Amino acid sequence: MNLFKIVKESVTVKQTAALYGLPVTTTWMTRCPFHEDHTPSMKLNDTYYYCFGCGATGDVIDLTAQLFGLSSFQAARKLTQDFGLSPDKPPSGAVALPKPAAASSDTQQEEIFYCLRVLHDYRDLLTRWQTEFAPLSPEEPLDEHFVEALHMMAVVDDLIDCLAFGPTSKKAAAAKRLLDGQLLPMVESRLNTLDREEAA
Ligand SMILES: [Zn+2]
Repeated sequence: MNLFKIVKESVTVKQTAALYGLPVTTTWMTRCPFHEDHTPSMKLNDTYYYCFGCGATGDVIDLTAQLFGLSSFQAARKLTQDFGLSPDKPPSGAVALPKPAAASSDTQQEEIFYCLRVLHDYRDLLTRWQTEFAPLSPEEPLDEHFVEALHMMAVVDDLIDCLAFGPTSKKAAAAKRLLDGQLLPMVESRLNTLDREEAA
């Protein structure tokens, strides 16, 4: 087994957050260590975390790498040391932890993360449009950006909710639907055009 696999199968994000002193609420929310977070915006799952504030997401190795400014490999090494895991033999005894039920494959996990990142960027954009294009008076016709923000915000929130916190099988299916569907390419092309406009 490789180091990354051993670490990911032995240690959960929740346990790591606890060991490294992130204060968590009873619903596994914590103040995000990666942005100025005044209320707990980061949700911890067994296999990964997701911040509703800044979109930071990743698995136990990403969390450790980001917290301590390490490479993935260094982070994995740190976790094996701090949790007393051995890269030579599978975890046993006190350090063997229950495996998250039905862990999805790496590809599925990557698809889920990818969708989450795109959706998060889109959500940022919608949030901006909601104020930038808000009508100044009730008589003013609604700007199409503002209308899109109103319509899409709830859809995007539902999708993020499902992808971040749904049961594993549902998350993978939702990501697959997004990758095969029309919404994600539309969002991506919107974000790309915007990047180009802002760069110009
Ligand atoms: Zn954050």
